[in-house]
This record gives sequence, C-alpha cells and structure tokens, in this order.
Amino acid sequence: MRMRHNRIKELNPFLQSFLYIIGGDIAIHVGEELLNSESEDITDEDITENIKDRINGTEVDFEPEDSETLKLNTVRKTLYKLYSEKLAQFRRIRDKSTGWFIYYWWHEFDLLEEILLEKKKLVDSKMRDRLRFEQNNYFFICKNCQNTNIKYNFDDAFELNFRCPDCGNHLEAQDNHKIIEFLKNKIALNQKTKITINEK
Ligand SMILES: [Zn+2]
Repeated sequence: MRMRHNRIKELNPFLQSFLYIIGGDIAIHVGEELLNSESEDITDEDITENIKDRINGTEVDFEPEDSETLKLNTVRKTLYKLYSEKLAQFRRIRDKSTGWFIYYWWHEFDLLEEILLEKKKLVDSKMRDRLRFEQNNYFFICKNCQNTNIKYNFDDAFELNFRCPDCGNHLEAQDNHKIIEFLKNKIALNQKTKITINEK
C-alpha cells in the first residue's frame, strides 16, 4: 500500500546536482521518493503516484499542464538511468494473479562518493592518455597546403624527407604545446577537485 509520508529526508545538494545531470528534474523527484521510502517496499507505480501527489501540492518547482501529467513510463526510464549509474537497485516479483512483474526499487546513494571517485579516475586516465599521445606524436604539416588538413607523423615526414609530396614545400612540425599545456592544467585541476559528500 502506498503511504503518504512526511518529507523528512532531503537529498544533499551534491546528490541533487548529480541526479539532475543524469535525468533532469524528474530524476531529483525520483531520488527524493527513493530516499524517503527506505523502510518500505516501493514500486515504480508508487513512486509515480507519490510524485504526482507532491507536484499537486503547494511547493511546486515545475507545474505540468493538465494534459501532460507525469507518466509511469517516464519514471521507469528515470529509474533505469539511476540503475545504470549504480545509484538504484530493484528486485522483481511476479504477481501471481496477473502474471505481470512488479518492480520494487531502492536507492544506493551511499555509493555516490565511490561512483564519483571512479568517474574522476576515468577522466584523469583519459586525459593522461591524450597528453601522452600529444607528447609522443608530433605532426608535420605543409603551410602551403594547410587547407587540405593533411598531417604527417614523424615517420611519414621522415620518409618524405620533410618535403610536402604535393608542392615540395618544407614540412613543419605543428605546434601542439598549447594542447599539451591545456591538458596539463586540466589534469592538475581534476586532481585538486575534492569529492566529499556530507553525511545526511
Ligand atoms: Zn604542400
């Protein structure tokens, strides 16, 4: 049975922003429902109804027109988005009378810090790969034929004796110092970013 509960627990701002990035306003609403139903079995249908009730209340941050009420499908899609980001889990049970599956959902918000640290590490390693690539790959271009956008790596340029095969002009090393500096700054900034989530 669906219960109207007092809204006691608030999502912390960090989690709110993360949910917003994942699925917009609706993801925040879904997150609030999951947070406030920790002690009960809640289905996607319950979540939808609860949000609808809440939206009809006074403190509303978005007010859908009568014609576009919140759809169960929207909530389901949002729940799966949370699930694929490892922020929600479900178990399903077959309803013996109808034969349909019932999905019960709960949040895994305690994993947020871990998830974000993982993302941070991924960003770091991608940028380091790119930096290594830039540092190890000097490209050579012909300034006469710049509009063709042809780049030669060191081996190719060497083979060509550093002469453009199209016009015979000298091939020049392309300056990627700006890109390298940019990446180094980004990596430093990413390292400095601290991920700490306040306890509720
Ligand atoms: Zn050329």
